[in-house]
Amino acid sequence: MEETKIYLSEKEMPRQWYNIQPDLPKPLPPPLHPGTKQPLGPQDLAPLFPMALIEQEVSQQRWIDIPEEVLAIYKLWRPTPLCRAKRLEEVLKTPARIYYKNESWSPPGSHKPNTAVAQAYYNKKEGVKRLTTETGAGQWGSALAFGCNLFGLECQVYMVKVSYQQKPYRRSLMETWGAKVTPSPSDKTQAGRNILAQDPNSPGSLGIAISEAVEDALKREDTRYSLGSVLNHVILHQTIVGLETKAQLKKIGVEPDILIGCVGGGSNFSGFSFPFIPDKIRGKKMRFIAAEPTACPTLTKGVYRYDFGDTAQMAPIVKMYTLGHNFIPPGIHAGGLRYHGDAPLLCLLYDEKIVEAVAYPQNPVFEAATLFARIEGIVPAPETAHALKAAIDEALKCQEKKEEKVIVFNFSGHGHFDLSAYDSFLAKKLEDYEYPEEKIKEALKHLPKVPAL
Ligand SMILES: *Cc1c(COP(=O)(O)O)cnc(C)c1O
Repeated sequence: MEETKIYLSEKEMPRQWYNIQPDLPKPLPPPLHPGTKQPLGPQDLAPLFPMALIEQEVSQQRWIDIPEEVLAIYKLWRPTPLCRAKRLEEVLKTPARIYYKNESWSPPGSHKPNTAVAQAYYNKKEGVKRLTTETGAGQWGSALAFGCNLFGLECQVYMVKVSYQQKPYRRSLMETWGAKVTPSPSDKTQAGRNILAQDPNSPGSLGIAISEAVEDALKREDTRYSLGSVLNHVILHQTIVGLETKAQLKKIGVEPDILIGCVGGGSNFSGFSFPFIPDKIRGKKMRFIAAEPTACPTLTKGVYRYDFGDTAQMAPIVKMYTLGHNFIPPGIHAGGLRYHGDAPLLCLLYDEKIVEAVAYPQNPVFEAATLFARIEGIVPAPETAHALKAAIDEALKCQEKKEEKVIVFNFSGHGHFDLSAYDSFLAKKLEDYEYPEEKIKEALKHLPKVPAL
């Protein structure tokens, strides 16, 4: 009988991250400066990020050593287990085998510290004393608070004001790890004061919080800014997830047929799946499925165009699938994964049809989440439940066709801080929402005009 949990020892933990850039079917279109619309140079990014991360952003080196100091911290929770969802297979009566890589194992409860710890390390090494960032629900803020604390950096988090008021326990978690949390918009930055002058009761938004965090970092010589998804270096750090998964499957002699992850900005999906992509490019039969909400259908309904990374048009312009930088997720949406774009690396692979995508409304997603909690025990983050829903759908297809496929999905995090969303679901208050085509057409009119490259 196969074990339910497949472990790696700390000695078997990967010591290098995998950089997919040299293995892409075509080169990544360059990011552009939001003002001049010319390709960005390292000097444009230096006020925001340490040089080591800027170098990783454009590196063409396939394998990049994980620093010893980062490995030492990873060992607090890594390697994470690969679990077989045997009880779920039985309930679904599927001949498929379902595995999940359990990233909820980390102290902040998600995959996010894989990059937060690495980013804190490189900033510390280059003499930075303080990091700023934004957070919505607080998952990224808590991961960065955790990472900064371990390397003795100050951490300033601008938290979207409605979330600050509605999710006090995420704030408590960040403060326990020593971070300073400020509700955004705040009177600490010009960007925040401008918004407050127009509307003193503004509930805030991720876009506004980004502007505040960036302005704060630019104002102080000892401070840099940190981003938790989308960028190439973030995905690089997350490949530890896929590399471990590969080693774990090898250990039990199992070849995956279908790899699944949920997509907000694309970091957990990409980190989990990219180490397997070269196998597919070399001809191995394998499917990669990215799962997203119908309320924010970036891959399934967006367009592959250059767009601003943020609403305030301060972030670089990148080529990605986008719903338009003015996209505002509907208020009824409780399932996370709200970013208007996705990681350029993932978008290129989706455009090349190496990766597929599916979108789900939130009620079926929460049904899958509740089923999993009742059968396998762990309460998934609503984001994670999108991947779970896709895994269940594929397992049911295997049941119809009597196929013994191996399905592996990334369990990006637990839902212990998302119980108010579960409350709404259990009280039947969640509404399904399909983002309308007309809104996408409208948004396209506002995409930036960029010179032919
Ligand atoms: C942040 C988060 C996501 C979405 O972000 P990606 O960059 O797409 O990975 C998914 N799951 C969990 C648990 C998260 O915290």
